[in-house]
Amino acid sequence: MRQSHIKELNPFLRSFLYIVGGEIAIYVGMELLKSKSEDITDEDITENIKESIEGTDIDFEPDDSEILKLNTVRKTLYKLYSEKLAQFRRIRDKSTGWFIYYWWHEFDLLEEILLEKKKLIDGKLRDRLQFEQNNYFFICEKCQESNKKYNFDEAFELNFRCPDCGDPLEAQDNQTIIEFLKNKIALIQNIKISVD
Ligand SMILES: [Zn+2]
Repeated sequence: MRQSHIKELNPFLRSFLYIVGGEIAIYVGMELLKSKSEDITDEDITENIKESIEGTDIDFEPDDSEILKLNTVRKTLYKLYSEKLAQFRRIRDKSTGWFIYYWWHEFDLLEEILLEKKKLIDGKLRDRLQFEQNNYFFICEKCQESNKKYNFDEAFELNFRCPDCGDPLEAQDNQTIIEFLKNKIALIQNIKISVD
């Protein structure tokens, strides 16, 4: 039941938080979302999560009696910060001299971050496709395990003979990989990233 509101998290955000910092990052992310109108301290985040998992099997500190340490939450917040998903400001507590950290989320940037990653993958696939389309390879069928490929110029230099065994080099059909790459690119194009 406690899990239910967490499942309402946008699936992209949820996955991304999980990748960044594991299960605890999802909980921290939820607390940041809940305190949208007001920045929240790491202490309060820790207390809120502890309260919400009390009486469940969830234990973020399996090695000792505590269920969640402030330090674990801090580490998670810094992970989110380094992924540009959270920000903080700090204020010195006049009575103790310690800094108090107030946190807020920057989840609105997630769409941008994901689109950036998508663009990067798309670019890599297109480069590879262009490379495959521009390069016709020759292989030796007998020495196939060696995985050696020769482009036209190299094969020409070798008189279309395998330098290892002397058998003729055969033109390799890279249509399969070209099709594979085209499908991948189409697939990525069709992924709709929406964080709303
Ligand atoms: Zn050979």
